[in-house]
Amino acid sequence: MSGILKQAVLIVIGKARIAGGDQFRFMAAFMGAVHLALTGIGILLGCQVLAGVSFAAAAAEFFMLYAVNRSGNYFAGITVVYFATCIHGLAACVLLGWIYGFFLYNLVMIPMLFYMICMTGDILEPKKYVILYTGANCIATLLLRRYVYLGEPLYAYTKETAFWVSFFNHLVCFFFITIFSEMFILELIANRRELRRQTEELKHLADYDGLTKLRNRRSMLAAWEGICREDYCVVMGDIDDFKKVNDTYGHEAGDEVLKMVASSMQRAVDKEDYVSRWGGEEFLMIVFGSRSYALKVVDKVQRELQNTGLSAGGSRIVVTMTFGLSERGEISGKDVDELIRRADRRLYIGKNSGKNCIIMKDE
Ligand code: GH3
Ligand code: MG
Ligand code: MG
Repeated sequence: MSGILKQAVLIVIGKARIAGGDQFRFMAAFMGAVHLALTGIGILLGCQVLAGVSFAAAAAEFFMLYAVNRSGNYFAGITVVYFATCIHGLAACVLLGWIYGFFLYNLVMIPMLFYMICMTGDILEPKKYVILYTGANCIATLLLRRYVYLGEPLYAYTKETAFWVSFFNHLVCFFFITIFSEMFILELIANRRELRRQTEELKHLADYDGLTKLRNRRSMLAAWEGICREDYCVVMGDIDDFKKVNDTYGHEAGDEVLKMVASSMQRAVDKEDYVSRWGGEEFLMIVFGSRSYALKVVDKVQRELQNTGLSAGGSRIVVTMTFGLSERGEISGKDVDELIRRADRRLYIGKNSGKNCIIMKDE
């Protein structure tokens, strides 16, 4: 019980969120406790019928708490707690009169029902049940309102007694509605946060290559659109005889080589430069600065590949790369396709002239 109260306080101050089935457990335990308290009030007032009705409601709620814990049928649990509370509210109005405030439970149950049914994922058509249950509750409450208004309550007590019972009911209902509103908001905030996280994750998956963690071709081209500077070089690199690596050491070793190449390229460039996996074992870099800076970057990559290597099946895999370079200053406008074509053409020239080199001009 103290655990539930502590949780309730945490929810009210926005520090805790009840997830999944705990929402139902919280509601059933809370209403069960309230109905037990009302059983006590019925006994104190000498109104056995109120005590009996309240005890029956509490028993139904605690039983559902137990049954749902075993079966996991939240829909049945919500239905029983909802109707037990509504019927109890109406019965108490008939017994004691409207001014005791028992009809408040019927009002409070409506947003609670919307919230609980919609949050419980195992109900196929939540709207249908929400409308049906709410309609039944509203019609019964309105009809009874007229009956109670025109007639006399079955049990009469002093105004002071009526005030304190009504005070208790108001207090419970304000507390209950506050907690459920808070739960709803916390759920919304958590859902929104989760959605944002998933969107970020999807965006990352769409923009970055899963193996090398480098930008993919699509996001590289998108980044290129935003480049306004004109002092950069485009470097297209391709691993030499990579097919042989796969054939000799296996595809997984080939993947490791791709990762190794990607990280050595990333280490070689400056923070502002771009490195992408252009496709297969081809990489494209945009490096800001002169040709000599681009040459330094390529030299760093080639030397690192030469020195590091990768061990596989007892042997060391060392790969080399061939590069083709084009410079933004070579052409008048920002023609991305032309810069790529030139770098690619020079890479091809490099492949045909012995590989493991960098070509900067069409020869
Ligand atoms: P060259 O020096 O002319 O570039 O020869 P190469 O063998 O590197 O080029 P080729 O185009 O003949 O073969 C490229 C190989 O790269 C073939 C393909 O299976 C392999 N490859 C492409 N993507 C991946 C990948 O993600 N993982 C692995 N392990 N291999 C890949
Ligand atoms: Mg290759
Ligand atoms: Mg290739």
